[in-house]
Amino acid sequence: MIATLRLFADYHTHTRYSHGKGTIADNVAFARQRGLSEVAITDHGPASLLMSNLIRRTDWVQIRREIEVQNGIYRDIRILFGVEANIVSLDGDLDVPREVLSQMDIVLAGLHLFVVPASLRAGVSLIINNAWLSRLSRNLGRRARRDNTRAVIRAVRKNRIDIITHPGLQLSIDTRELARVCADHGTALEINTSHREVTTDFIQCAAEEGVRFAIGSDAHDPWRVGDLGQGLALAQAAGLRPDQVINAVKPGQAPRFQ
Ligand SMILES: [Zn+2]
Ligand SMILES: [Zn+2]
Repeated sequence: MIATLRLFADYHTHTRYSHGKGTIADNVAFARQRGLSEVAITDHGPASLLMSNLIRRTDWVQIRREIEVQNGIYRDIRILFGVEANIVSLDGDLDVPREVLSQMDIVLAGLHLFVVPASLRAGVSLIINNAWLSRLSRNLGRRARRDNTRAVIRAVRKNRIDIITHPGLQLSIDTRELARVCADHGTALEINTSHREVTTDFIQCAAEEGVRFAIGSDAHDPWRVGDLGQGLALAQAAGLRPDQVINAVKPGQAPRFQ
């Protein structure tokens, strides 16, 4: 019998510190309403072109301080200080300094088209190829897929990354190769309920390599925090067990606060 999955955390949420609509307090309020016992604040790294605060540098100190305040108020939820970093080079570099990453409770990283790349070469490989050239020929498509896979795999090897966000969204990646490396490094692959790119075929293929998954809302509106139902249904349909999903309640273990 397949064990029922129950989730206790949403590890992927945005606020006004990047291009979300609400505050940290708003995200926490909605997470509590949904009965979650953990929520991560994971605003975009500074290379994102979608930031509302393009001129300022991302204020990690302020974000961390606000999270501490929220953690001081509530006893029924733990708020994690995190980031959705951008992979900005073919060598797997992230757009967040290591000393900042080392202070975080959770690190998410992903490939995005709307970023400032680390170099012209990275811009051509990771942005222009994926956005336009890969549509022109199968060869260029294959090259883009190879470069994307290489960049993400190097990022996983080089940095402590807990979750790769929306794998395959906009930028094609070799699932099996990525899953194998992530499994080796304890990095989870995300089932993202905003973008809904992931299919049961993807999950089953990745799961065969022994990787674990995280179901995340990628909420940009506070009311979407904890909106994980579609990902949960997909994970169940793919036959995932609770031990294969990092934010699922494990058998015999009651969620801490629920
Ligand atoms: Zn993203
Ligand atoms: Zn996101």
